[in-house]
Amino acid sequence: MGIFHQLAVATLPLIPRPVMRKLAGRYIAGETLEEALGRLQQLHAEGFSGVLDLLGEDVQGESEARTVLAEYKLGATKIAELGLDAYVSVKPTHFCMQKDGDLAFELYDDLISHCAKLGQRMRVEMEDHPTTDDTLALFTRLRAKHNNVGLVMQSRLFRNPADIEALPTPEPGGHIDIRMVKGIYLEPAEIAHTRPDPIRKAFIEQCISLWSSGHFVAIATHDDGMAQTLLAHIARENIPRELYEFEVLLGVRESLWRGWSKKDLTVRVYVPYGPEWRAYSQRRLRKNPEMLRNVALAMFRK
Ligand SMILES: Cc1cc2nc3c(=O)[nH]c(=O)nc-3n(C[C@H](O)[C@H](O)[C@H](O)COP(=O)(O)OP(=O)(O)OC[C@H]3O[C@@H](n4cnc5c(N)ncnc54)[C@H](O)[C@@H]3O)c2cc1C
Repeated sequence: MGIFHQLAVATLPLIPRPVMRKLAGRYIAGETLEEALGRLQQLHAEGFSGVLDLLGEDVQGESEARTVLAEYKLGATKIAELGLDAYVSVKPTHFCMQKDGDLAFELYDDLISHCAKLGQRMRVEMEDHPTTDDTLALFTRLRAKHNNVGLVMQSRLFRNPADIEALPTPEPGGHIDIRMVKGIYLEPAEIAHTRPDPIRKAFIEQCISLWSSGHFVAIATHDDGMAQTLLAHIARENIPRELYEFEVLLGVRESLWRGWSKKDLTVRVYVPYGPEWRAYSQRRLRKNPEMLRNVALAMFRK
């Protein structure tokens, strides 16, 4: 990352809201559930599956967390009514896990049961490293009760191979559903790979390790080289189609994943929405190699 890119990253929090909202536009479906469902329907018509994500994190109180639960339940119900192949995905701190682990368990438990009745799965997302232990413990508790819940794991963390080893044992004939990601949070060098190549190598090794235990892997990436290496492994080892899919982000390298879909690979698009779009959009912009240019253009147009 060049010095100008780094400088621009540092100024992201200072960018006025209307300019930031414009920049966020490519990464989010909008601010309402209706907009997100509309985007999922469009994608469905084009042959893509979906993930629905209400933006937000670090919720501080029970009533706010219960409001989040209600919105997610409504989202799952609407997905079923519209006949979409989509599931909901929730950050633990959006259910207040950092303050009250039992409350987070209760809310996930309620949502997962609701999704099961609708014939849907759902997923517990992974946030930054101070939350990793609690998220893994929460997932283990939830997975003991429900087989329609999955987890996100981050290849950049040194601990991840051991965490894969320690995943719960699924019921006979079942599997654990893992979305493998590189990890969006900038973690310290003492606990995580910080250079691209070791993160990539770890990602590939960890996907292979998950398959060798019979688990399902949602390969969540826009890294074409890494995807090609994994596709070659899938072909060589005859990994069954039921054990993998691609998951990608709205607004990120769309031509790449539209190409995957044309090759008859399952591609599931992550569709985030909601008024709390700022933190998510800043994380995405930070990763955009054209961010500096986009910020400059947006400021100029304003
Ligand atoms: C469906 C999905 C869910 C995710 N959930 C989580 C989660 O729960 N927890 C978590 O920590 N992380 C999550 N992530 C984010 C993930 O950890 C990575 O930060 C993100 O996917 C970028 O990594 P990459 O594998 O695409 O590789 P990169 O090396 O970052 O990118 C590959 C290519 O895509 C381009 N690119 C990447 N991002 C952008 C962007 N924003 N704009 C334009 N170009 C870009 C890069 O320039 C590069 O050419 C999720 C990602 C996906 C796809």
